[in-house]
Amino acid sequence: IKKIIKWILTGSLQDSRLTIPSDTAMKRLLELSGVPHKLTDGKIIVEESTPLLAQLGIEKLDARKYDETSPTVDDTTDSFEFICRMSTVRLRNKCGEYIGCRMGRPEKARERKMQPAVHALYPIGNAGGRERSVNAAAEKTRVDVEVSQFICQGCRRKIIRPYCSDCNMETHELRVCGGCGYTGGEKTCPNCGKDTRGYQRTYVDVRKDWMGAISKIGKTTNVKGVIGMISETKIPEPLEKGLLRALNEVYVFKDGTIRFDATDVPLTQFKPCEVGVDVEKLKQLGYDKDYLGKPVTDEHQILQLKPQDIVVSEYAGTYMVRVASFIDQLLTKYYGMEAFYNVTNPQELIGHVVVGLAPHTSAGVMGRIVGYTKANVIFAHPFWHAAKRRNADGDEDSIMLLLDTLLNFSLSYLPEKRGGKMDAPLVITTLMNPREVDDEAHKMEVGCSFDTKFYEKALQKVNPSEVEVKIVRDILGEHPYDVYFTHDTGDISGPVTESRYVTLDTMKEKIDAQLAVAEKIRAIDEREVAKIVIDSHFLRDTYGNLRAFSRQRFRCVKCNENYRRVPLIGKCTKCGGKLLLTVSQGNITKYLDMSMQLAQKYGLSDYLKSRLRLLKKDVESLTTNDLEKQISLADYM
Ligand SMILES: [Zn+2]
Ligand SMILES: [Zn+2]
Ligand SMILES: [Zn+2]
Repeated sequence: IKKIIKWILTGSLQDSRLTIPSDTAMKRLLELSGVPHKLTDGKIIVEESTPLLAQLGIEKLDARKYDETSPTVDDTTDSFEFICRMSTVRLRNKCGEYIGCRMGRPEKARERKMQPAVHALYPIGNAGGRERSVNAAAEKTRVDVEVSQFICQGCRRKIIRPYCSDCNMETHELRVCGGCGYTGGEKTCPNCGKDTRGYQRTYVDVRKDWMGAISKIGKTTNVKGVIGMISETKIPEPLEKGLLRALNEVYVFKDGTIRFDATDVPLTQFKPCEVGVDVEKLKQLGYDKDYLGKPVTDEHQILQLKPQDIVVSEYAGTYMVRVASFIDQLLTKYYGMEAFYNVTNPQELIGHVVVGLAPHTSAGVMGRIVGYTKANVIFAHPFWHAAKRRNADGDEDSIMLLLDTLLNFSLSYLPEKRGGKMDAPLVITTLMNPREVDDEAHKMEVGCSFDTKFYEKALQKVNPSEVEVKIVRDILGEHPYDVYFTHDTGDISGPVTESRYVTLDTMKEKIDAQLAVAEKIRAIDEREVAKIVIDSHFLRDTYGNLRAFSRQRFRCVKCNENYRRVPLIGKCTKCGGKLLLTVSQGNITKYLDMSMQLAQKYGLSDYLKSRLRLLKKDVESLTTNDLEKQISLADYM
């Protein structure tokens, strides 16, 4: 520091512009301490030099306060304390405490597809092949499945759905007793007192249902069904729904609804230009004043987001338009009613109502679409996110169109087993009460600035509970929506709308990019980064997959039958098909070579290297067949 002061004193000052003869070592010091400067004609120029000079105690290059003898640097003085003694102004540490964080999961906004993707909750057993194709199953008139049974009150025929479309009549449910063979409507068998079942193993005329659906809809395409139903009564959906979903390229979830999943992001204020909606349209939705109470005239004005309004991704908009046209066609062609949505583009969907739902819950919350951004997230008021979840942990939730939920959701598609009723809109909140949402949202601060007291308390490092900051809880009683902000932003979804983790394809590219950044940043030890990645990610993944490999089941290529052990005849006992591993070898080794290369490149510890070598040996001993190894004659000579 003394050297740098001496050097600066050789410079000259013009207003606040400091010019000093260049010196490589000193220039590096300026770089390391983050002093903005430039190099011109062999001279270093600091345009705004007053803060620098004041901190060094040589304001206006006046060296009077600077004296070779005092203050002195001794062992107990750190550089910050030393500068404090030199400075003509009071200095504070730039940062009191550092909080580190790492990336959780990358952002996402995608339609939900079951594995494999399904258009219709309609059972076709193995008749659809591996593709679960309803079209293939419809070649047959007798398909063997477990399904619900009903007796039509009109034609007295046994059918699989609770409504006979031939007679337009209600039906009686047929239940079966596994003990004595009783069939009838009772839940408990009148003969032996056992619980009856809501379904039977029977033959279904898929061909008839399929032809009926095609004639009703008037079009056809490839439709994917399910092998079997998972609910207690195994009531299938009408095939018309599946055909219409396939025609609109939308997919069904196990509860009958169509879902769109996206990452939750809280939002309290927005500008019309950020959400791609014009001022007039927003006025119709009730946004006539900006957050300061002025009439809205300009698309750059800041508006306060209404607590049940949401801003979704553009892609969600186009998917929801397809869902809306599915609903409209279902209403007109299947239910014989009028179309409801009549939309052809996402703009026309603005103002329509969706249901937001978090996984592991069964209570949806209504929301209204008020705009679109390029970001792959759902922007919504923190209250709305908190209302959906048991806690607002910045996770991923789904939305569905309200009419889809009302028309197509049914409890009878859901399994009886524990947890089967989760992630389903069993109840829907229409008007959200901010007092009733998770109280994590009540702890959000609401002011537009922090006063000096706050910073002074921060300096004393007092317990947060001893600091008075206005939070939502304080205003819940009177005006819970008056939430303000401390810093404005240029664009809520920019400038990066897609993280590199999502755009980079392979794990190798992701790792290379992460380490390239680590190498560039002085505060980061890239060896540590490589070690953490291997230790907490790759090693765990590899061990996990190794265990899965050794405990895996076997699957028939033809009929998908699952075996815990390979049958003695070595092929499928049901159809004679070839059996395959369900966990591939590549799954175990995919990160192993990359880990070894990283360990080599960054000179990681011998301990880690030998762990990797041992693991590789384990994997090899498990996956290579020693009996089949080719050995050349020369090996014995
Ligand atoms: Zn009938
Ligand atoms: Zn019985
Ligand atoms: Zn088989």
